[in-house]
Amino acid sequence: MVKEVAALRDRNVLVLGLAKSGFAAAKALLRVGARVTVNDAASLENDEHATILKKQGAVIVDGGHPEEIVEGPFDLIVKNPGIPYSNPVLERAQQKGIPIWTEVELAYLISEAPMIGITGSNGKTTTTTLLYHLLNIDHKQPLLAGNIGTVATDVAMKATEQNVLVTELSSFQLMGVETFRPKVAILLNVYDAHLDYHGTKEAYIEAKANVTRYQTEDDYIIYNAEQEEVVEAVAFSKAKKVPFTRLGRTEEGISSDDDYIYWYGEKVMDRSRIQLPGDHNLQNILAATAAALLLDCSEETLDDVLSSFTGVKHRMQFVKECNRVKYYNDSKATNTLATKSALLSFDDSLILIAGGLERNHTFEPLRPYMDRVKAVVAIGETKERFATFAKSCDVEHVVVADSMMEAVERAEQLSEAGDVILLSPACASWDQYASFELRGDTFIEAVASVTK
Ligand code: ADP
Repeated sequence: MVKEVAALRDRNVLVLGLAKSGFAAAKALLRVGARVTVNDAASLENDEHATILKKQGAVIVDGGHPEEIVEGPFDLIVKNPGIPYSNPVLERAQQKGIPIWTEVELAYLISEAPMIGITGSNGKTTTTTLLYHLLNIDHKQPLLAGNIGTVATDVAMKATEQNVLVTELSSFQLMGVETFRPKVAILLNVYDAHLDYHGTKEAYIEAKANVTRYQTEDDYIIYNAEQEEVVEAVAFSKAKKVPFTRLGRTEEGISSDDDYIYWYGEKVMDRSRIQLPGDHNLQNILAATAAALLLDCSEETLDDVLSSFTGVKHRMQFVKECNRVKYYNDSKATNTLATKSALLSFDDSLILIAGGLERNHTFEPLRPYMDRVKAVVAIGETKERFATFAKSCDVEHVVVADSMMEAVERAEQLSEAGDVILLSPACASWDQYASFELRGDTFIEAVASVTK
């Protein structure tokens, strides 16, 4: 179902970039009666999606982004989140004052279902997935949307009032919103990220804060009370504030100590029942639990889900235990910050497989946590550099490997009962793999064959 959006009927809209999200946006816009032009840098002559849109009345301009296209004239531009604002078409549009949205704004406008918006530098996918599971049991009919794989507009087109859209949002998507008002918003954390796109940290934080910008006193903002920058970023919000903290029981919001999770000071969950490893994941658990409780999730459901949820694939994913050695796949850790979280999740006896695409970034942020690493198997383009770094941290055994199979074999040879073998590369995967998912899958396959 699609909600009528009178403001879009007969409007001239330029959809910039025909990736998955552009296609969904163009379809939705045509459905609500807008006049749509799609522009893409690639040639779309044989493109299946372009052909479908053309049949439905869209105009296609392909093979480049001619600046003059802005003269359309257009009332609105919906852009792919990947296209930077420095793109000449967008620069011209900004000069002319044409609003520029991402498809999240469109999804919000057409959705009959209420939305939950989850953002932050790290932990979005874990929190979104966990929340989805928590809501799925008590018949809330959640639908996953956004960054997590399914384009938000596509999901919104199918949603009804019975559903709730659990939406993972990047800062890129949040830059292009004007009225987006989720019923429940979550801001997990803000670290330095994507400064190449946003320019300054302030601009990045401002984009993240858009998740709550248009909320009213009928809505909720769940936020990380442990991080000063987050507290400041949401200070202006009109929504009801639900802080989360792992630093001991509080009367407000959701909190935890060593033993329990508390909801407004009352025990709601025994921590010993929680399966998901990692202190950082406790933040994600608190945020997802708060959102679920606001939507009337029962304590039985909390216990059912949290005692069985072991994580999302490639994110501190427990793979298997063999000869009392545990294997974890954290292939998604493509920077030192994520690998630091992973290292913090274990006490010692760690064998770390790390390295990947060379971006000349320093590994120094890992140094304070390398004392728990007894061996390093370095892989990928950065293998020599990572090995040198590990040696400078006095890691007992440091070896390099040319393939994932060899890395897992070497790690297994170095291991003894009680050890953890962890793939957490601190580097992107594109030196050897098409994606971090493929790198993680290769690790899982190697673990399966080495531990047969
Ligand atoms: P995102 O979707 O934001 O990239 P993920 O849930 O996929 O986040 O987790 C990516 C990586 O970030 C994980 O492998 C983990 O090491 C790290 N991480 C997850 N949650 C947090 C958190 N709350 N704080 C810090 N780091 C985290």
